[in-house]
Amino acid sequence: MSFSGVDYFLIDSALNEEELLVRRSTREFVEARVAPLIKDAYNQGRFPMDLVPELGRMGFFGANLTGYGCAGMSNVEYGLMMQELERADSGLRSFVSVQGALVMYPIHAFGTEEQKQHWLPRLATGEAIGCFGLTEPDFGSNPSGMKTRARRDGDYWILDGEKTWITNGSLADVALVWARTDEGIRGFLVEKGTPGFTATDLHGKLSMRASVTSSLSLVNCRVPATALLPQAKGLKSALSCLTQARFGIGWGVLGAAMECYEVARQYVILRKQFDDRPLASHQLVQEKLANMITEITKGQLLALHAGRIKDQGKLEPAHVSLLKRNNVAIALDCARAARDLLGANGIMDDYPIMRHLCNLETVKTYEGTDHIHALVIGERVTGVAAYR
Ligand SMILES: Cc1cc2nc3c(=O)[nH]c(=O)nc-3n(C[C@H](O)[C@H](O)[C@H](O)COP(=O)(O)OP(=O)(O)OC[C@H]3O[C@@H](n4cnc5c(N)ncnc54)[C@H](O)[C@@H]3O)c2cc1C
Repeated sequence: MSFSGVDYFLIDSALNEEELLVRRSTREFVEARVAPLIKDAYNQGRFPMDLVPELGRMGFFGANLTGYGCAGMSNVEYGLMMQELERADSGLRSFVSVQGALVMYPIHAFGTEEQKQHWLPRLATGEAIGCFGLTEPDFGSNPSGMKTRARRDGDYWILDGEKTWITNGSLADVALVWARTDEGIRGFLVEKGTPGFTATDLHGKLSMRASVTSSLSLVNCRVPATALLPQAKGLKSALSCLTQARFGIGWGVLGAAMECYEVARQYVILRKQFDDRPLASHQLVQEKLANMITEITKGQLLALHAGRIKDQGKLEPAHVSLLKRNNVAIALDCARAARDLLGANGIMDDYPIMRHLCNLETVKTYEGTDHIHALVIGERVTGVAAYR
């Protein structure tokens, strides 16, 4: 049955025509092109690469950036697009998030005109793929400790180090690698095929299976001085990219939650137990659905407000922490409740719920864990940093 949306509180009435159009066209794309293949891609542990040119043609890559072939969407339009993509699968939304928020955004914000002209149009069409290398084996939640180093050698930089858990690492034509230099942490655009640079896929993931995750190795890897993003200075530049991506996650996970809710709602209306009564007629079942729709609705209002104030230039990283942390948590709760309501069927891949539930475990961890965002919020409200 085609999806008609989840709008308990008439939130659609706060969306304009363009916003509704972006959501509709993304939804139609997902239903026609992604829904038929995502289960197999997930089970086979691969990203459906055939979709990349189509994702580019739809304007999904770097959609809220302007110029250089980008769609120039508002942040609410962008958020609605992310929501529809993640309704299909978090791996699909991750691909689009990494390309746009973690590779195109930093080139757009911190790059030279030559870097922008060279990379952004190709990344926008999907002709080129990018990845973002920040995390290291010993530095996940605390990237400030990174060991990867870059040292200047005439007209070159030489990079040494290891990055891990890098989405799209082996697929990428260009890796944005963050490294420590004598002037602090800087970002470098390392092209595929550069001697000393290799990407190796991680296998054995039971979550985010329709997404490629790799380790990056840099051994005496020599890149030209023009590979440095000149305006990216210090860890705060890397974190500003994460703020963009987390905003997309705050919207995206609502798509996963809405899908789980809607599948469970329809299931309990049809499924009968005890005297031929539908599951939906039991109070305990209704309470679960009531809790799900309440939390989804609160999450929708939060995301919409975040999008509106982002469009006004008022959204701060601490706001995004609250958005990401809350909406991922409620999406996980919805997926678990939906899994439960489907009984044994809930664990089967005939339904999307278990896939979403497994994916959301990753989404809780990456882009700042639930704990780290709690600490950001805690610092904001007390003025006291408690990370260490
Ligand atoms: C599928 C996937 C894709 C990813 N893609 C990318 C990518 O494209 N690029 C990239 O750079 N990284 C990526 N990551 C890495 C991700 O950002 C890290 O996994 C994340 O930052 C957490 O780091 P960690 O796994 O080392 O966990 P750790 O930092 O070791 O944390 C483990 C646990 O300890 C808790 N913890 C840590 N410090 C504190 C503290 N001070 N107080 C309280 N609790 C704390 C955490 O909240 C967590 O519960 C990806 C990860 C996954 C799983």
